[in-house]
Amino acid sequence: MYVRIALVMLISISCLQAQLAVSPGSEDLEKNFNNPQESAKPITVHGGDKDLSLLPWPTEVRRLTGEYVTTAESRITTNRQSGVEGYMLDVTREGITIAAGDAAGIFYAQQTLGQLTVSNRVPCVRIVDKPRFQWRGLMLDCSRTFQSLDYLRRTIDRMAAFKMNVLHLHLTDDQGWRMEIKKHPELTGRGARFAEKYSEPKAHEGFYTQEELRDLVKYAAARHVSIVPEIEMPGHSHEVIVCRPDLSCAGETNGDIFPFFKGPDITSDILCAGNEKTFAFMQDVLDEVIAVFPSPFIHIGGDEAPKESWKSCAKCQARIKTEGLKNEHELQSYFIKRIEKHLSAKGKRLIGWSEILQGGLAPNAAVMDWIGGAGPATKAGHDVVMSPTSHCYFDYTYKRISTERAYSYDPVAGLSAEQAGHVLGLQANFWSHIDREPELVDKQLFPRLLAIAERGWSPADTRDWPAFKVRLDAQLPRLRQMGVHYNNDEQIVKGEVK
Ligand SMILES: [Zn+2]
Repeated sequence: MYVRIALVMLISISCLQAQLAVSPGSEDLEKNFNNPQESAKPITVHGGDKDLSLLPWPTEVRRLTGEYVTTAESRITTNRQSGVEGYMLDVTREGITIAAGDAAGIFYAQQTLGQLTVSNRVPCVRIVDKPRFQWRGLMLDCSRTFQSLDYLRRTIDRMAAFKMNVLHLHLTDDQGWRMEIKKHPELTGRGARFAEKYSEPKAHEGFYTQEELRDLVKYAAARHVSIVPEIEMPGHSHEVIVCRPDLSCAGETNGDIFPFFKGPDITSDILCAGNEKTFAFMQDVLDEVIAVFPSPFIHIGGDEAPKESWKSCAKCQARIKTEGLKNEHELQSYFIKRIEKHLSAKGKRLIGWSEILQGGLAPNAAVMDWIGGAGPATKAGHDVVMSPTSHCYFDYTYKRISTERAYSYDPVAGLSAEQAGHVLGLQANFWSHIDREPELVDKQLFPRLLAIAERGWSPADTRDWPAFKVRLDAQLPRLRQMGVHYNNDEQIVKGEVK
């Protein structure tokens, strides 16, 4: 059956859709799934059955006969009720049947089947499943430290195995510009390399060509992972100003590209909001970004923008005056709104960090909440993705954010039902300034990322730490098999929980 599953996974999405359209028997299956007489009671103890160490825990699980299937063929059919990414999985003595509404549903059913299969044996079970949230994300910072394409692909594999579906790449920041922009080659010339005097290892710098990124997008799409690119503006732009001093307020720079720990956490560099050249430049960049990434969302950063330069810049002050703005916060809002308009005209939605709310936000823009703002943002009708430093920052130590603490997070806590409807989902963030080697990044991400995977997928009322811990421990051999260097120190994993 392993071979059979592997083959099905390799079938392209279009083939799967064609197969879905012609497969008979879906109505019978729907009837069986929906007939309580046919099924055992749903299992509500999520850690008690060693055969069912599923992670994330499915929406509904029924153990059927206590029997196992060893050599069954899997049959794939359609099921309109499964919805986006949803599926039904039926393992009986007669065989294995997957019913799903779309290709992602089939893919997720196969991940579940993979977790159920031990030594080529699958317990008889009936599962009805769908995600709680549409955005189940991880951000990797590729700027502070370059992340190899090989590491990105491995990360996508691991995310997909646990039904996560958004990889957010932080492609630009003070420490380096990581995406080829054909119209502005200087960005990946000087802008992607640390100055020689710092003697940084070559593996920590570099950039991705557009062709490499297109391949990565395809690789991710085959695993139902969407890649959201982030281009930081107007702050965190030291590397741009090193390459293009004419886009700064002062029009010059004496700087070089330095490793994070060799300079200030946040530089005073910011793109000049009074200079038309800044907008022309960013629009060039975004046009090339849009052509590479099919993601409906483009992340524009917007966090920690130091506004001192704007206060003393004649061009920025003139902009404040001519646009009737009150202060520099409103100038940032003007900046973001102009970029939003450009993205919107290209059919893309802007998303940015909490600070883009300052001074007002364009109606269609979404907010990635890291330091608050979800309350007012959702009240004003903006969609949000929750990634608070309190639970989702995985560059922090396990002492500060244990796996249990990450698992305790509820992205809609404190919001009304209407506001909760604007929560697209949640995301773990990893900033690559302290732990920089792949094995160390792995240790920071795993096993905590599995807690986020479950909080993003499983129904809210299935949250149960002791049961999750049993299932998590059962997944550790799988992580080892996948080559994950997870944090294995229970003392550190337990950490300070509350
Ligand atoms: Zn300026």
